[in-house]
Amino acid sequence: MISFDQTYFKKVAEDIFKCDSPTGYTHHVIKLVKNYVDAFGYDSKILNSGALEVSIKGTDSSKVVATSAHCDTLGLMVRSIKPNGKLALTTLGGPITPTLDSEYCVIYTRDGRKYTGTIVSTSSAVHVYKDANSKSREIDELEVRLDEKVFSKEDVEKLGIQNGDIVAYETKFTITDSGFLKTRFVDDKASVVILLMLLNYTSKHNIKFKYDTKIYFVVYEEVGHGASVVDKNISEFVTLDMGCIGLDLAGNEYAVSICAKDSGGPYDYELTTKLISMAKENNLDYTVDIFPFYGSDIGAARRAGVDMKGALIGSGVSASHGMERTHLKGIENTLKLIYTYLIK
Ligand SMILES: [Zn+2]
Repeated sequence: MISFDQTYFKKVAEDIFKCDSPTGYTHHVIKLVKNYVDAFGYDSKILNSGALEVSIKGTDSSKVVATSAHCDTLGLMVRSIKPNGKLALTTLGGPITPTLDSEYCVIYTRDGRKYTGTIVSTSSAVHVYKDANSKSREIDELEVRLDEKVFSKEDVEKLGIQNGDIVAYETKFTITDSGFLKTRFVDDKASVVILLMLLNYTSKHNIKFKYDTKIYFVVYEEVGHGASVVDKNISEFVTLDMGCIGLDLAGNEYAVSICAKDSGGPYDYELTTKLISMAKENNLDYTVDIFPFYGSDIGAARRAGVDMKGALIGSGVSASHGMERTHLKGIENTLKLIYTYLIK
């Protein structure tokens, strides 16, 4: 069984989490991931959509199996420049917008310039606005205060900022001594790191995969069509994405969640049952859940017409699409389950 190398996890995670990659702006992170994959000695190619496809020959070529994690994250885009020099915003994916109030952010212009700012409420000052506390924190009531001396729309335009520019907010990446990974975008960068750990391990120990295997680092998952680009020949697909926590759900930050059903309906019965058995046999901490408001890359591949069995596993993530958190134990259990499925 693969061992969980905490030091290596921390090193790779820091690298991946610190590379801004809002959905629609993922070329930097994909290049970073490809550098790792190249260094491990595996074949990969960047698809037209921007996703990275890794192809590995297995001991048995009777079928092609696949796994994936998504490299894109939630983010924002400049909707318009206001007459007062503030930036109006639109969301990329579905963040919990009240959690964005007061976050630091970076604006990436199309000509390669970078500016910093802060996301603030349109009623940001308690000494001025009567509704500073009560104002809605929906996206239209939030704006970017640029760290530049700007007083008008023209001032902002002179910086090269325009409608449609990418706005990435800070991750606050932290791993605590108690083993918590607390940062934005645990969904799904934790899974990206898990797959890189797996490939590092199999490469280093010259371990063969059971079947011909495709590993996808997809983009555009947060807007619903990430894995629509997967190979039509794959017959099984286990995607790695966040597990849900809350209400009556069994999931927690220390276990690998195995999803039986989400908004798109049930996952493949046989494949899901197999993953549950594997978790049990290997004494992994696991839970089985339904995710009430959730879509995954399995749905995207199904809608693209791939005839396959699909399943979903992942570490439980607290406060998803807000200030997220999981535990290294949950990451370890997920790593061990995907390793068992692909290798053991
Ligand atoms: Zn996700």
